[in-house]
Amino acid sequence: MISHSQTNTIDFDAAKLQRLGFTGNRTQSLRPVSLAQLRQQLTLQLQTSLEAERILSLFFREVQRLVPLGALSYQLAASDLRLEMGVRASHSACYRLSHEGEYLGELTFRRSVRFSEEELAQLESLLASLLFPLRNALLYRNAMRSALRDPLTETGNRLAMDQVLQREVDLAERNQQPLSLLMLDLDHFKRINDSFGHSTGDEVLKALAATLKAQLRNIDMVFRFGGEEFLVVMSNTSSEAAAMIGERLRRAVMELQCLAQGRAIELSVSLGCATLHAGESIRSIMHRADCAMYAAKGDGRNRLVVAS
Ligand code: GH3
Ligand code: MG
Ligand code: MG
Repeated sequence: MISHSQTNTIDFDAAKLQRLGFTGNRTQSLRPVSLAQLRQQLTLQLQTSLEAERILSLFFREVQRLVPLGALSYQLAASDLRLEMGVRASHSACYRLSHEGEYLGELTFRRSVRFSEEELAQLESLLASLLFPLRNALLYRNAMRSALRDPLTETGNRLAMDQVLQREVDLAERNQQPLSLLMLDLDHFKRINDSFGHSTGDEVLKALAATLKAQLRNIDMVFRFGGEEFLVVMSNTSSEAAAMIGERLRRAVMELQCLAQGRAIELSVSLGCATLHAGESIRSIMHRADCAMYAAKGDGRNRLVVAS
């Protein structure tokens, strides 16, 4: 039997645009307009999304009704936001964006032909309608990020973990791909707190999280499960591959150089590895990973146990 699956996504931004009568007919939306008309339309259109990517790609498309462009790139140094659309070319016009003194990133327009003074003036005028929606999108992005992140270790929090697990288990089932989890716990962490103080303990947790992220391809899949316990979610990863990654993490933590009050702190982790069984629940695979981690503790710590 050939099974066919399809993902249906309801796109709220597209839905809103449709209601405003902006979508569908691309040629119509690319019809030339006057600067005043375009400014007015942009103001409406850019309000329909809170996603920086979407706002900038709408802006890129619509601006071209007045000023032909080859490419648009945007970057905000403070966050990891960096977007490029179109094809790069030799002539560029770069703008540093800010709104009421707040820095909103840098935007560069590019194309193969020089921009005329009139065109630059038009671009600047159109940029004004981008600032407010872009600022809202950045605020929203920050709010989302802090809602899903553990502030100390900059890893995902429990809320993010639950969402990702649900999504990844569904995907693994649907695509019949392996999904593996690593449950990881610092060994004798209480001793570190007791000997060096809680704030040193915090620094150790930060260093541990940074090491885990440095070792992993997809750093968005590391979650702080509890105090000194982390969960790594590995999509499309077999049990053997997951055990290898776990071993790599274990060694990297052992090699971590942590100093407190001039003394070296020896660190190690115990890990439990579990791979999703057909039809298994999240609760069950988490339980198996946890039991495997406790087995690693029981076997003497600083080791990895693969759940059966
Ligand atoms: P084991 O090898 O069996 O895991 O021993 P352990 O000492 O690591 O485990 P235990 O569960 O006894 O202690 C965990 C400690 O982690 C106790 C708690 O105070 C500490 N802890 C939890 N969250 C934080 C945190 O955010 N910062 C600091 N500094 N310590 C924390
Ligand atoms: Mg521990
Ligand atoms: Mg623990």
